[in-house]
Amino acid sequence: MEKLYGVIGDPIGQSMSPDMHNTAFQSLGLQAVYKAFHVTPERLQSAIEGVRGLGIAGLNVTIPHKISVMKYLDEIDPLASKIGAVNTIVNKNGKLTGYNTDGIGYVNSLKEVLIDKKLENCSILLIGAGGAARAIYFSLLEEGVARLDLANRTVEKAEALVNEQLSSQSRALSLAEAEGVINTYDILINTTSIGMYPNLEEIPISLENVNENTIVSDIIYNPMQTKWLKEANDKGAITHNGLGMFVFQGAIAFEKWTGIYPDIDIMKSVITRKLGGIS
Ligand code: NAP
Repeated sequence: MEKLYGVIGDPIGQSMSPDMHNTAFQSLGLQAVYKAFHVTPERLQSAIEGVRGLGIAGLNVTIPHKISVMKYLDEIDPLASKIGAVNTIVNKNGKLTGYNTDGIGYVNSLKEVLIDKKLENCSILLIGAGGAARAIYFSLLEEGVARLDLANRTVEKAEALVNEQLSSQSRALSLAEAEGVINTYDILINTTSIGMYPNLEEIPISLENVNENTIVSDIIYNPMQTKWLKEANDKGAITHNGLGMFVFQGAIAFEKWTGIYPDIDIMKSVITRKLGGIS
């Protein structure tokens, strides 16, 4: 029998997940279909009951449900618990388990551009302290990076996140402080929405003092090259956009549902085509 998967969110109309997952199902000859479901906050609980009732095999969860959905699940994976958000649900015989594949998806995509660098030797600056930053922060800590500092407009939010874990690898900085020490990092990661369509002219922090060969990574993928990445490229840095994070988080979710790791290149080309550009 055909299995049903989907994504829930509000809004959900622009989601590219159905195209990505349906192409992966078809390329593997799997009897499965993936749909987008518009679920408003007041219908979240009944939507999750519907997952059990209808036997929907798995879900992705997006804004605004990543935190609120957790209380309706039977089990939460330890990394998702630390992050405090779930983006993937697996339904095994009526038992719903929540995972977070955003951070590990990001880490996998970052590894594609590391070349001769090793994460455990890298000093990293993470800009932002919102939901995406939390997922990436805890996933990078699991990799055992050398230093992982956080800079945020509201510095108290960065401090709170740093204080959640006991290691001394991290400190919180203001955006201005981070600009002053930008040349001390191997990798810079923007997790804020600054530079995302339609605010194409904004950048999160100045790259004036960035070193050549620093990896400059922006988790935004619309546009695929933000103004910040363009400036980084002009400075001789290695640039990395958010397309890989989106595709890898989807691929890891796909594997949790089906036991099969899908072809990343097929999934990437679907999204690249939808965004009308090159990755
Ligand atoms: P969020 O929880 O709302 O966090 C937003 C972050 O951006 C906060 O740190 C906020 O700082 C900062 N920020 C927003 N506007 C700012 C401004 N004008 N100046 C300075 N800082 C500003 O959002 P999120 O869920 O983490 O998502 C953030 C971005 O990541 C979005 O662009 C989203 O599309 C992207 N994303 C990409 C993927 C992917 O697969 N590639 C996955 C998830 C998210 P304050 O704390 O000071 O407000």
